[in-house]
Amino acid sequence: MDVLPPPQSSEASGSDQLRIYQTWKGSNVFLLGGRLIFGPDAIYILRSVFFIVAPAVVFCVFIAQKSIDEYSDRFFGISIMVVAVLLTICVLVLLLLTSARDPGIVPRNAHPPEPEGFDGSSEVMTGHSPPLRLPRTRDVVVNNSTVKVKYCETCMLYRPLRTSHCSTCNNCIERFDHHCPWVGQCIGLRNYRFFFMFVSSATLLCLYVFGICWVFIVRIRNRTTISLGKAVINNPAFIVLIVYALAALPFVGGLTIYHLYLIRKNMTTWESCNKSKKNPQNSNPFNKGVIENFIEVFFTRIPPSKINLRAKVQKEPEIQPGVVDDTFSFPTIDKSIEDIEAGPKPVSEDSATVLQIEVERDMSNNDRVNRHIEFGEEFPDLIREQGQSIMHPRSFSW
Ligand SMILES: [Zn+2]
Ligand SMILES: [Zn+2]
Repeated sequence: MDVLPPPQSSEASGSDQLRIYQTWKGSNVFLLGGRLIFGPDAIYILRSVFFIVAPAVVFCVFIAQKSIDEYSDRFFGISIMVVAVLLTICVLVLLLLTSARDPGIVPRNAHPPEPEGFDGSSEVMTGHSPPLRLPRTRDVVVNNSTVKVKYCETCMLYRPLRTSHCSTCNNCIERFDHHCPWVGQCIGLRNYRFFFMFVSSATLLCLYVFGICWVFIVRIRNRTTISLGKAVINNPAFIVLIVYALAALPFVGGLTIYHLYLIRKNMTTWESCNKSKKNPQNSNPFNKGVIENFIEVFFTRIPPSKINLRAKVQKEPEIQPGVVDDTFSFPTIDKSIEDIEAGPKPVSEDSATVLQIEVERDMSNNDRVNRHIEFGEEFPDLIREQGQSIMHPRSFSW
């Protein structure tokens, strides 16, 4: 049986209360007592930091400083160094703003939603005949277009519009764009703006280093009357930086251009990929026009997080295997790749798709046992704070 180990925390020692982040069952990692939230691959942020800081250091030490020391070009050297340092700090801050915040996690439900027409009887959760039915999708009308929102079995909710479940973080993310391994975080509603600014400022930094290196070499050649080739050979840091900039520019520059295209269309990366696969003719119901689309991304207020990771909750009692009543079970959905997709679906798609969710009686599956425990009446885990339900997600990932 999959019984969650009691979270360890000095903050909760000696009391029955834990912080939400200490009971978090998604794959996220936290810093500073839950004030900062990262994806499970947050370690890769260090790789990104290295690729940003290393060329900046080489540039400042071997180009800017050399310009000051050896060529008595003090103003030029100091100027290019200050700009390089400021740009690097800007890129790093934007990286942190992208990586260390809630990207738009949708809190999980503690119970599956009731099917339409359900009269509220407790029998729904305690074994059914005939089996409990939940529609796999629901239709939502947006700008006269019908968009299908899917049911997420892990989060036990119908995903809000433009929401998808990130299999890396194991959370549903609003306006899900993609999971970025370079920033170790999902890109969604609450950090897309910073992600774009991070990528575009990194592009700017690359262009700056590339351009200034050439200016530096040309100035040396003009002052010392040596050939351009000799000026390059005498400054190997120049070659390193040029090669680095040429290698990085297609990546960050291409990403910047691609996301400018997506912003112009008011599409996410996920929607863009999904659309081409499913229905290239399907119009985007979220497109408000170029100007409105840019305003939406850059000038609208970022909504507050729906999760309060620092909130205190009651520690769950430790469950012993064998205490589970096997007359109690939960509906399941056959999982497929379709289940992790979100975003607009073609109106023409067969709307009659309904997934029959059968109440399983076979309790040999540990995961089902775990779900039983989580949702059993003996162990209510629904925590409400400020009217917002904060849920305990399950521990498995798909
Ligand atoms: Zn989900
Ligand atoms: Zn993710």
